Amino acid sequence: MAEKIYDVIVVGSGASGGVLATNLHLAGMNVLLLEAGKKFDRKTFPRTEADYSTQLFWGGGLEFSADARLAFMRGKCVGGTTIVNQCDLDRFDDVAFADWRAASGVDFFSLPAMTPYYDAVQKHLHIHEFTPDEFTENAKQFIRGCDAMGYRWGPLHRGQSDCRLKEGNDCIGCLGGCQLDSKQSTWVCFLQRVPDLPMVTEFTAEKLEIGKETVKVHGAGREGKQTFTGKNAVCAGGAFGNAVLLHNSGLKNRLPALGKGFCMHPQLMFFGLFDHPVNAHKGAFQSVCSHDPGFRAAGFKLENVYAPPISIAMLYAKMGREGQAFIKNYAYYGCIEAAIRDEPAGELSTDKKGRLVIKKTFTAQDESRAAQAKSVIQNIFEKAGAKKFIPASFRFGLHLMGGCAMGVDEKSSVVGPDFALHGTNNVFISDSSIFPNAPGINPYFTIMALSQKLSDELSAR
Ligand SMILES: Cc1cc2nc3c(=O)[nH]c(=O)nc-3n(C[C@H](O)[C@H](O)[C@H](O)COP(=O)(O)OP(=O)(O)OC[C@H]3O[C@@H](n4cnc5c(N)ncnc54)[C@H](O)[C@@H]3O)c2cc1C
Repeated sequence: MAEKIYDVIVVGSGASGGVLATNLHLAGMNVLLLEAGKKFDRKTFPRTEADYSTQLFWGGGLEFSADARLAFMRGKCVGGTTIVNQCDLDRFDDVAFADWRAASGVDFFSLPAMTPYYDAVQKHLHIHEFTPDEFTENAKQFIRGCDAMGYRWGPLHRGQSDCRLKEGNDCIGCLGGCQLDSKQSTWVCFLQRVPDLPMVTEFTAEKLEIGKETVKVHGAGREGKQTFTGKNAVCAGGAFGNAVLLHNSGLKNRLPALGKGFCMHPQLMFFGLFDHPVNAHKGAFQSVCSHDPGFRAAGFKLENVYAPPISIAMLYAKMGREGQAFIKNYAYYGCIEAAIRDEPAGELSTDKKGRLVIKKTFTAQDESRAAQAKSVIQNIFEKAGAKKFIPASFRFGLHLMGGCAMGVDEKSSVVGPDFALHGTNNVFISDSSIFPNAPGINPYFTIMALSQKLSDELSAR
């Protein structure tokens, strides 16, 4: 039987792969989507925190840096991390794009140049701006503290169609997959529109064999070892997935910058203990954020937030009675998260067995930004009336970026402005791995916009 050759093979179905595979399929191309994780939908998402952590995430919930001091979360299912994320959607500002242009030499990293792609993606998304009637007690404390300190704040913009808050729905559950199809994952907004798209799930791409005319994707899945062939391939496995795939494809010699520039917006969650129930886990558990230009300049961003009980217990790493006393107060905490705009000083590689190795420590600048954020949050809680301030003791990353940076210089970047791996014209990347540095802004919307740009360009070819 003649070998089937696809126009494009897309590896990974998250923020980038979901947009790309859908757009290219609708443009009439012969597309195959490969995804390491399983396919779930609103009726089949696991319903307990332990079950969804182990079934929807890589590493059974958490992966760790080589020194085990930082933890990372990324989705492993159809829809990728967009199934488990909080779906706050922001366009980048001039600051982020100017820093990207300076680091990469790429002209289209600007708000005017990217606006048509944000707009094109937004046609398929519901973006909701939270209103005061949706603010929870946790949000109100954040606002009270900010107002008292003179810090600027604003409502969050979230991808959601109808979360049925008035019927008493608690959005915290959708960190394990939205049961209402309200959260705007790429599964809901893109992939569900193309039920006839060829897709192989539970298949991990292990190696690319890049030829002049074709790209072979070798990997393993439910049917054992398999190889798929395409005229083109798009690596949409995210920062970690792409680093592993490209290292294991023997490309580090050709691409010296591969794995470099990893950054993650380290998240630190701080608690304020109140003498009345806050019930931060109820309703729209995240609805306001900092809008303070001083914080942007200082390199951090704040959001009101919370998490389900196992995660909250993990965030306060104490044992025995102390740990027990902490979790007993689950309903009495206000919680604010700081996301640090970290330096791209991390490095991703693989060990001799081809397993991911994450080298990432805080630089002096990262530490200083974290310390400033802590002091600001302490002020907010004090002014909001908290009786005790509990600093973050666990640092983790949800926005995994870099490792395959885009740029014009082949020595310091991995893909060019045409999204192709340097030295090839048939392997492309447009996901979070191409970020030249940390924008300090939620990345999901921009990953989709970049993938819209790549899909437009591939369809035009
Ligand atoms: C808890 C949480 C909350 C978040 N909240 C927000 C938020 O509010 N706003 C925001 O902007 N961002 C948020 N993010 C981050 C955002 O979701 C990610 O930055 C974004 O999804 C990354 O997109 P991606 O396409 O690069 O990778 P992903 O969405 O992670 O998709 C990669 C896909 O590729 C698959 N894959 C990887 N390797 C292989 C392989 N070798 N073979 C086959 N398949 C493979 C993975 O299983 C995955 O499905 C959050 C993340 C988390 C964890």
